[in-house]
Amino acid sequence: MGILEGKKGLILGLANNKSIAWGVAQACHREGAELGFNYLGEQLEKRVRPLAEKVDSTLIESMDVGEDAEMDAFFAKVEEKWGKMDFMIHSIAFANKDALRNPFSQCTREDFQLAMDISAYSFVACAQRAAKIMNDGGSMVTMTYLGAERVIPGYGMMGVAKAALEASTRYLAEDLGKSRGIRVNAVSSGPIRTLAASAVGDFRELMAKSARGSMLGRNVSQDEVGNTTAYLASDLASGVSGEVHYVDAGFHVGAGDPGVEK
Ligand code: NAD
Repeated sequence: MGILEGKKGLILGLANNKSIAWGVAQACHREGAELGFNYLGEQLEKRVRPLAEKVDSTLIESMDVGEDAEMDAFFAKVEEKWGKMDFMIHSIAFANKDALRNPFSQCTREDFQLAMDISAYSFVACAQRAAKIMNDGGSMVTMTYLGAERVIPGYGMMGVAKAALEASTRYLAEDLGKSRGIRVNAVSSGPIRTLAASAVGDFRELMAKSARGSMLGRNVSQDEVGNTTAYLASDLASGVSGEVHYVDAGFHVGAGDPGVEK
């Protein structure tokens, strides 16, 4: 019997078969969960729907997390179809490329707000809606990166947004944990080649450095992140909340100046 047998969960942020969300979806499906998905716009629906159907999903709906009305409509459909649910995986981020690659001191108000809204606040916005239809003792997981803690060249504004996301994870964990027994965690993955990753400056070099600095001496896979996330979604992690859980994020061995990667 799988560790998610009998559980229903949302996977938010699937774009294509390279997405971290796809690694998570496959692991959760293998472990017995019934899954629901969102997609962003018609273009992505063409890619998301066939993937979601591969893991036997029948709940595949549009949702832009930048729009409150779309979020309300999405969660209303989830409630209509499922009634209650058990877990939610948030694997969503967006920032304008300039905000990652330009010197951070040049970040505009607009770029700062957009990255914060889609990459950090959207987790809070999803959590508040999901909690209303989540069974007590459920689980929420978001995806973060080491750039929240250390300066990673080329990551810029997204590092600042991930710091806010990690802090939001802890505050949500305390709030929903004490009131409802709902656990909230973040998974911090090493770099993986995805659509979102293509916005990061000099990603090839980042992957090479990350592999050298990791405990395992290599980069991690989408499947490894998926397995860790499935564990956090499951009752096996019933005592784990408010944590940033690393999947060999790199730069822990032989790092240069504290807090700045060269
Ligand atoms: P991805 O491009 O496959 O996924 C990002 C998803 O965010 C896409 O599905 C996209 O549609 C969605 N999205 C963006 N704006 C949205 C909006 N307004 N409404 C709804 N959805 C929206 O890339 P990924 O690398 O799988 O990213 C998933 C998560 O993992 C992100 O939070 C990312 O920061 C994080 N992460 C990625 C890496 C990496 O190296 N790829 C490492 C650590 C953490």
